[in-house]
Formats: sequence, structure tokens, C-alpha cells
Amino acid sequence: ADSQQQQLIQLHEKAAEVYHHMLVNTAIGETALDYLHKRGLDDQLIEEFNIGFAPNQRDFLFRVFQNESLDSALFPESGLFVERENEALVDRFYQRIMFPIRNFQGKTVGFSGRFLATEDLADKDQPKYLNSPETAVFNKREILFNFDKARGALRKSGTVYLFEGFMDVLAAYRTGVTNGIASMGTSLTNEQISSITRLAQELVLCYDGDQAGIEATNRAIGHLQETSRIGLSVVSVPEKLDPDEYVKKHGQEAFVNLLEHGKETVFSFKMRYRRMNKNMANEKEQVEYVQELLHDLLNVDSLIEQDRYLTQLSTEFQISRETLQQQLRDLKRQRR
Ligand code: ATP
Ligand code: MN
Ligand code: MN
Ligand code: MN
Repeated sequence: ADSQQQQLIQLHEKAAEVYHHMLVNTAIGETALDYLHKRGLDDQLIEEFNIGFAPNQRDFLFRVFQNESLDSALFPESGLFVERENEALVDRFYQRIMFPIRNFQGKTVGFSGRFLATEDLADKDQPKYLNSPETAVFNKREILFNFDKARGALRKSGTVYLFEGFMDVLAAYRTGVTNGIASMGTSLTNEQISSITRLAQELVLCYDGDQAGIEATNRAIGHLQETSRIGLSVVSVPEKLDPDEYVKKHGQEAFVNLLEHGKETVFSFKMRYRRMNKNMANEKEQVEYVQELLHDLLNVDSLIEQDRYLTQLSTEFQISRETLQQQLRDLKRQRR
């Protein structure tokens, strides 16, 4: 990397160190530290992920950097500050729990900051999470949270878990599932998919159990099937919980159990998904359901699986297997 990139990384490493210090060693960080402890993050995990706190002061980092006599030429391009009209720089992140975002080499290249609401600071206008902007070292299309750490475990097992949020990755990490990753709150990009498929043979989608998470799962399946041949399965978290909430409510053992034994095939997910938006007492919608699922069956490579689901559909809707198979063959021909 060129020296400008090196310097930007240095600024981020420095900022991470400062924010982390504020969280673990100062009175200013106490509320944030309590909050994290209450959410189940212990000190070891906070160390390992170098989590920090940006105080509620808009010139906090700027002053620290000035006192350290760091070269300010790159401050505007670092994404750590925002420019005011008078061209003065103020901190981008304040009153936020800071999650350092590392690149594949483990270097901090950006942050995601979670707003810390307090009684006197119930700032409703604040977005829950604020991310670093695109910079010369922070490319949202490429970055994956925890990919640097997940790599080791991933190479061994070949399996990667994809979560929606950082807190879910951390919740999984706590239970010993270290091969979990998350994108930056956006849907997966082609760049991220190719990084994943370079190392993993199997991807387990474990998004939030709410409606938004289910829709995101369906979109991710479509995108992954279009762009890769990676093995896919789905873990649906019950009770509309996200993985982090599930661990909190049911415990670590239950969560590990869910990941190990709660995996379902993509097609089984599709059966539930297609049903959700339909009135299955209505005959017309039943027919639509079967037709949609036959399209989904085209993406099932395993003949054993295909056969099984054909039987299932045939039994449930009293349609002969021959008819279903004929229709499937027609669809295959159309698609070519
Ligand atoms: P928490 O458990 O801390 O409340 P979460 O991870 O459950 O957070 P979700 O609302 O489920 O939060 O969102 C999933 C992910 O989407 C977040 O981890 C974050 O990366 C991203 N995200 C959520 N809200 C925002 C936002 N306002 N701006 C940018 N990204 C966001
Ligand atoms: Mn969500
Ligand atoms: Mn969530
Ligand atoms: Mn959550």
C-alpha cells in the first residue's frame, strides 16, 4: 500500500487506541462500559475487538490528535472528522460506542459507532449506527466485519456464518462460533461474495428473525445463487429475535444448538417464505405457491433433495408427481 494509505491506517489505529482507553480506563466511559457489560460483552471480548467510546464532545479526537502533533494534512480525508462551513474540523463520532472495522489484514480502516442513549441524551434524531464514509482505505463494498479473525476458523471448517449486525457476530463469538461475519448493514456485494467464496465452501445465513431479516435472507439467497456456487443453508431465529437477543434470552448452549441443528435447506426456507404472503386457503394462491416453488426447485442441485420435495408437493396438493416433473422440465428448458 502507498504511504497515504499507511498514514490513514495509522490515524485509525491511533483513534481506536484513544477510544478504547476512554471506554475502559476513564469515568467518561463508565456508562458505555456498563451498557456493554449488561449486553453480555465481557472485558476480554472488549479487548479482543478493541471496542471503544467516543465522548460527547465534538473536538475530543481532534484535540488528542493535535496534542500528539500528528500531521493534520490527512485529517479531512480520514473520515474521522467532518468539515464545518468555516472549514474547521469536528469529530464525526461522538457519544458513540466505537467498533473498529478491520480490513482482511487486521488493520483498522474505519469505525461503526453505536449511539449511546442516556436519560438526558435521548437524542431521537441520531441514527443508531453511524459508519465511516468511503475513504482510500475503507471500501464498504469490500469490507466484512470480523473477516480477519474468522479466517482461521473458516479455513479449518470451510463454513462461514453471515449475520446482520456486529452485536450478533460478537454474541456468536462469545459462544465459540468465531467464524461469523457481517456486512456493513447493507446487502452483500459481489466483492464480498468473492472474498467469502475464496475461503468458504458453505455459508449459513443467520439474519434477524423479524420481517426485515426474513426479506433480507430471501434477497441474499437470490444474489448468492446468481453469483456463486457456494453451499447455502439458513438458520431462522425464532420469536422474531436477532441472534444476540436469542443468546440473551435462551443462553449460549441453546444458541450453539440452534446453529448446529437448526439449519434448514434453502428450499425449506423458500417453502415458508412463499407461504407467508399467501392465503393458503385460496385455491388460486395455492397454485401460485406451487408454481413459485417449482422455480425455486430449479436452483436445487441435489437430485435427492429435488425428489424429496417433489413428493412433498405432490402429496400436499394432490398433484401427480409426473405433472410436477413435466412442469419442472419445461421450466428448465425455458431457462436455457
Ligand atoms: P443493536 O443490537 O445494537 O440494537 P442490531 O445489530 O440488532 O443493533 P439492526 O437494527 O438489527 O441492529 O440492524 C442490523 C445492522 O444494520 C446493524 O448492525 C448496523 O450495521 C446496520 N444499521 C442499523 N441501523 C443503522 C443505521 N441507522 N445506519 C446505518 N446502519 C445501520
Ligand atoms: Mn435487523
Ligand atoms: Mn438486529
Ligand atoms: Mn440486536
